[in-house]
Amino acid sequence: MRIFDPHIHMTSRTTDDYERMAAAGVTALVEPAFWLGQPRTTVGSFTDYFDALIGWEPFRASQYGIAHHCTIALNPKEANDPRCVEVLAELPRYLAKDRVVAVGEIGYDSMTPAEDEAFAAQLALAVEHELPALVHTPHRDKLLGARRSLGVVKESGIDPGFVTLDHLNEVTVPEVIGSGCWMGFSIYPDTKMTPDRMVSILREFGLERMLVNSAADWGKSDPLLTARTGEAMLAAGFSDDDVDRVLWRNPVEFYGQSGRLDLGSSDVEATFAGNSILRGGS
Ligand SMILES: [Zn+2]
Repeated sequence: MRIFDPHIHMTSRTTDDYERMAAAGVTALVEPAFWLGQPRTTVGSFTDYFDALIGWEPFRASQYGIAHHCTIALNPKEANDPRCVEVLAELPRYLAKDRVVAVGEIGYDSMTPAEDEAFAAQLALAVEHELPALVHTPHRDKLLGARRSLGVVKESGIDPGFVTLDHLNEVTVPEVIGSGCWMGFSIYPDTKMTPDRMVSILREFGLERMLVNSAADWGKSDPLLTARTGEAMLAAGFSDDDVDRVLWRNPVEFYGQSGRLDLGSSDVEATFAGNSILRGGS
């Protein structure tokens, strides 16, 4: 089983996770820029984080044969803090970087006017930079959040095929399926979406434009739930080719639209080989 996790926050995971993921067949991933739990108070906290997403984290991943890519954005939650909004001016220089494959996560947290503004401004950046957009749908008021997100996407003029609405469930899929947008599902250990519920959704709604991720972060989560979903699909009668489509070809097709997926041997290792931290043996 080859697996591309299209949404996983490796910054909050250990090298043991990278090792287990590689053993389970994960050879590529996308790490979206997001909230880190502790609120940021300056733009410098964002740019240091973004630099880690395009530098240090790809190096960590490459040691386990995993191709690491990222998305860059001001996340919806912190769009409400004026000290954070200033980072919007820094985004264009990051959106020009090699392994940045989308603008994200953008979208809504509490659906405030400040979030409206940051969401629309960043969809405009995606259009300008010809990049896909990764849209986080809120965990509260899910249906309303998905509807409003689709409205903003439509208004922006971005090609819906360049947009993923993420964290969907049984309630929100019917809203999104006719929109032309891609549909992302985050599989969690005991809340929200489980492998078995995901299999039922794939049975009912098909495999087209469907993306399955583990979203693993600092909360209770499991980076192997992509593999568990593949196994649940096989147990339910889906073919190996179906699993490959959902867990590999779909994410490659979606993020491939950036023209920046690098699934071959990575040159990140070479870039960091002379790094003094590594020479120090840490
Ligand atoms: Zn996320």
